[in-house]
Amino acid sequence: MMSAIEAGKRGRSVSVLDHAEREGQKIRISGGGRCNFTNIHMAPEKYLSRNPHFCKSALSRFTPHDFIAMLEKYDIQYYEKEKGQLFCRKSSLEVLRMLREEAGKAGIAMRLKCKVTDVRKEDRFRVITNQGMFESDSLIVATGGLSFPDLGATGIGYHIAGHFGLRITSLSPGLVPFEYNRNDMKIFGALSGISLPVKVRCRDREFQGEMLFTHHGLSGPAILQASNYWMKGDILQIDLLPDSDAVEIFRARHGSRTEMYNLLAELFPRRFSRIWSDLHIRSKPLCQYTDKELIEIAGQLHNWEIRPQGTEGYQKAEVTVGGVDTDELSSKTMESRKVPGLYFAGEVLDVTGELGGYNLHWAWASGYVAGQYA
Ligand SMILES: Cc1cc2nc3c(=O)[nH]c(=O)nc-3n(C[C@H](O)[C@H](O)[C@H](O)COP(=O)(O)OP(=O)(O)OC[C@H]3O[C@@H](n4cnc5c(N)ncnc54)[C@H](O)[C@@H]3O)c2cc1C
Repeated sequence: MMSAIEAGKRGRSVSVLDHAEREGQKIRISGGGRCNFTNIHMAPEKYLSRNPHFCKSALSRFTPHDFIAMLEKYDIQYYEKEKGQLFCRKSSLEVLRMLREEAGKAGIAMRLKCKVTDVRKEDRFRVITNQGMFESDSLIVATGGLSFPDLGATGIGYHIAGHFGLRITSLSPGLVPFEYNRNDMKIFGALSGISLPVKVRCRDREFQGEMLFTHHGLSGPAILQASNYWMKGDILQIDLLPDSDAVEIFRARHGSRTEMYNLLAELFPRRFSRIWSDLHIRSKPLCQYTDKELIEIAGQLHNWEIRPQGTEGYQKAEVTVGGVDTDELSSKTMESRKVPGLYFAGEVLDVTGELGGYNLHWAWASGYVAGQYA
């Protein structure tokens, strides 16, 4: 919609083809219905891509302030929740209404329930759909990734790229909860509902925030962030006391007769302390531990290791990591280097944002840029 609006403003005759019954399905449900539409700490480092420089041009030409200016024109109230994340005060539907109105002003024809099955190019692009064939000089593929098929995600964007000989990087579900392996499931399944502030390390990346125990595994912002970097077989290293020094806490109480388990229950929810203690320590009064033992227990709290069996997959993933290889495109225009007139924007590209409004902002910014040239 963003690229259509920009192309329409330039006087291009534009049709948006979408197989969904309603446009912007992901906008509707995003941010729990309040749409975390951007982040004021926008930076290229917040994106994962084989080419970390690719996103720079679009992000510098369409900034969070540009999107905010659009919202303000429509009197849409917003607020910062945390970590620079901006949400609508009332509803994500307001963002959708704004885009719909902008599209109307730009003379865009919205064609819903229009499923694209194939694209060919002879002298012009020929887009084959269940509503017949559409022809155009330019084509912007903004069909998203594979995440949330229930909301209309399909792999058509990759199919189109492949048809024109463009490379696709390897794809995986991102911003997605983890599932326990069978053994951990038996032990930690009972912790469902508990949330802890943690720091999660995966490969060379580290994320601080909440971790939520679910029925099947781990979720919550810090875990979702780590999932973008996780590969099958990787261990997650979790610091359960990211803002404190467990050794210091233990040493301060070393002379006491308090049981270790009871001290842990002061630091964590009791249900968690019991299961964690049973698993990792033999609880006794603090005064009976040697300093070496205290250091060991502290080490385990700061570096709890868990090896998930997998993730909850595309059904529950907020994004798809990977996509159309950015080396195939101009970062200035989003146009294919091989196929003049063919543009890509949004999640279909190998540009994946962190949690916190970065993915929608990439959709706005790359769509804006493509719309300037298509
Ligand atoms: C539950 C959930 C919550 C999220 N919350 C946030 C958030 O708060 N903030 C944030 O930044 N990001 C969020 N995201 C991620 C964000 O929604 C996406 O990254 C973003 O919508 C991508 O935009 P896009 O235009 O590239 O693709 P999409 O929004 O996926 O749009 C692609 C469109 O293509 C259409 N389409 C697909 N295949 C075909 C076909 N064959 N024929 C015709 N049409 C087709 C689809 O119907 C869809 O309308 C969330 C994602 C999910 C799943």
